[in-house]
Amino acid sequence: MKSLVDLIETSNRLDDDQLRALLTTTDAEVVDYLHERARAVAQARYGTGIFVRGLIELTNVCRNDCLYCGIRRSNRHVARYTLTADQVLACCESGYALGFRTFVLQGGEWGDERADWIAGIIREMRSRWPDCAITLSLGEHSREVYALWRECGADRYLLRHETHNAEHYAALHPAEMSRDRRLQCLAWLKELGYQTGTGIMVGSPGQTVDHLIDDLQFIREFRPEMVGLGPFIAQHDTPLGHYPNGTIDMTTRLYSLVRLMLPNALIPSTTALATLSPEGRLQGILAGANVAMPNLSPADYREQYALYDGKAHTSSEAAEGLRQLATQLATIGYHIDWGRGDYRKNLDP
Ligand code: SAM
Repeated sequence: MKSLVDLIETSNRLDDDQLRALLTTTDAEVVDYLHERARAVAQARYGTGIFVRGLIELTNVCRNDCLYCGIRRSNRHVARYTLTADQVLACCESGYALGFRTFVLQGGEWGDERADWIAGIIREMRSRWPDCAITLSLGEHSREVYALWRECGADRYLLRHETHNAEHYAALHPAEMSRDRRLQCLAWLKELGYQTGTGIMVGSPGQTVDHLIDDLQFIREFRPEMVGLGPFIAQHDTPLGHYPNGTIDMTTRLYSLVRLMLPNALIPSTTALATLSPEGRLQGILAGANVAMPNLSPADYREQYALYDGKAHTSSEAAEGLRQLATQLATIGYHIDWGRGDYRKNLDP
């Protein structure tokens, strides 16, 4: 079975049955070897530096009703907020002083009518911090809106496809959302020159190994610059709140498989993984992840951006905890890399 790990490392691909074997093996030695090779590939490309991105949770107002998400439209237990432009810029200012050179504006999805307001914030960020990368994670929009934000200076866009299987997608989302629309948005983002990120929730309700294989093959073919993978974590006010959480084991296997398929990908060790265990963040890095996204949002709002139960938002999840993150990283021989951390296309196989 270790030969499958060697094969994916040298060829950057496996067929469906080979992927199934690595996703389902109970042989701990094979899983350790998978992580070891993924880690070696990440280190060969990016060293032992972990890029940090300052996450700003712009709003928890959302027009969508995703069945798993705590900020879904019909959750009446959420106190809704939207940061003002000044609050966003203040987050950037303090983040810049801390050393961040990437800001991620993430939020619930609005209609395109607020696009100009967001465009104004992007323009201001671009002019005040020209050396920083601006990443957006604001959901599905028209091609025109994505183009506008790109022209204003946004560099990157994160939009997880959530699951590549259309039926599974339909089981996780309301009827008005579709997998095809999601994929169309991803294609537009790429065409417009965004460094594009996609990904899934691992262990989402109804997910099978076949779905994961389909997701991995899609990710390999789409070649995103960033891949966001985090465990599904139940949120008690949602229709899927009674399902079990995804696991660290499966999430870290996927980190390693993606790292070996797309050696240069920027892969965050996600907050959801850190929520499952205090060791989650480090386990993700040891499986080949190379990005961390500390929270720069004003402390008063963090609890209201509760996508799932127990979401980590203090200590090393928060910008104030950067020293703690650095200390944690040092225990496994890693450090914070304060660069912008762009995708290194010139290293593509
Ligand atoms: N609205 C934007 C979008 O749809 O991409 C960005 C915000 S959305 C809340 C960010 C991500 O949170 C989603 O892509 C989803 O994978 C993740 N998420 C939502 N609910 C979750 C849950 N219960 N467990 C784990 N991840 C969750």
